[in-house]
Amino acid sequence: MGLSRFQGGNVSMRMPSGEILVTPSGMIYEDMVAADVLVMTIDGRIIEGERAASVDTEALLYIFKKMPPINAVIHTHQPFATAVGLVTDELPCIVTTLPNATKGPVKVCPFSSAASVEMGIQTVENAGDSLAVILKCHGVMALGSTLKEALYSCIYLEEAAKTYVYAHSMSDKVACLSPEQVDQAVGIFKYYGQGKAAIPQDLTKKV
Ligand SMILES: [Zn+2]
Repeated sequence: MGLSRFQGGNVSMRMPSGEILVTPSGMIYEDMVAADVLVMTIDGRIIEGERAASVDTEALLYIFKKMPPINAVIHTHQPFATAVGLVTDELPCIVTTLPNATKGPVKVCPFSSAASVEMGIQTVENAGDSLAVILKCHGVMALGSTLKEALYSCIYLEEAAKTYVYAHSMSDKVACLSPEQVDQAVGIFKYYGQGKAAIPQDLTKKV
């Protein structure tokens, strides 16, 4: 999907038992097998796995400690969202798919070094209710209560960032959704997909 190439970024998850799964450092994703993923306590004590854990593990564990509803973190170097982070402090809700996936605008964190706990501190401080932040001059932290939710967040963030970059290349005036339109989009999205109830008509009225 172009979110992270070769060995860039990492994926981590909190298991229902409370243990944390973290991808290994510097391994190409296509070469990785299940046994390469480390199992550790939230304090970083390795329970299973022979590999060196991601260099960002301290930051990831900080996020899991400080954000109990978050059970999955995907860290990427996705280019369009990262580009937006070089020129602004926030990616506004310019398309409905962004708040559907990230739950709101996406803030840009001040720069922090890779492999530092500061990456985690900045993520917690800037995420608010959103399921993603952009790390200035680095990449993205996408969050979710599930791995699927975190993946949706980074994919739709990248799509929205690409749209934003294209729109900005044509004009400095880029349209944004109002807070009411954002709430409406998030409300409608709850009915999206198979096996869901019909969308209540008053939810789609003009706001
Ligand atoms: Zn990184």
